[in-house]
Amino acid sequence: MPDCPNCGTWNPDDKLVCWRCQTEMPKPKPEKKKPVRFLGMPLWTWAILAVMLVVWVLITCMGPRLLAPVGG
Ligand SMILES: [Zn+2]
Repeated sequence: MPDCPNCGTWNPDDKLVCWRCQTEMPKPKPEKKKPVRFLGMPLWTWAILAVMLVVWVLITCMGPRLLAPVGG
């Protein structure tokens, strides 16, 4: 709902000029897509953390067997 910067009259969103005083309306700011955040971090950060956690669990569980395979 942009108000006319000149006379303060409300104008419909699609109006390019104020219907009352013909002042050019400020262009509505294009909405930037904000990255989805969780606890202040972008989701991809959490995705990386999740992958690292999975890798860590795998290494913890499988590591000893992989690093020091018992013959037989
Ligand atoms: Zn106006």
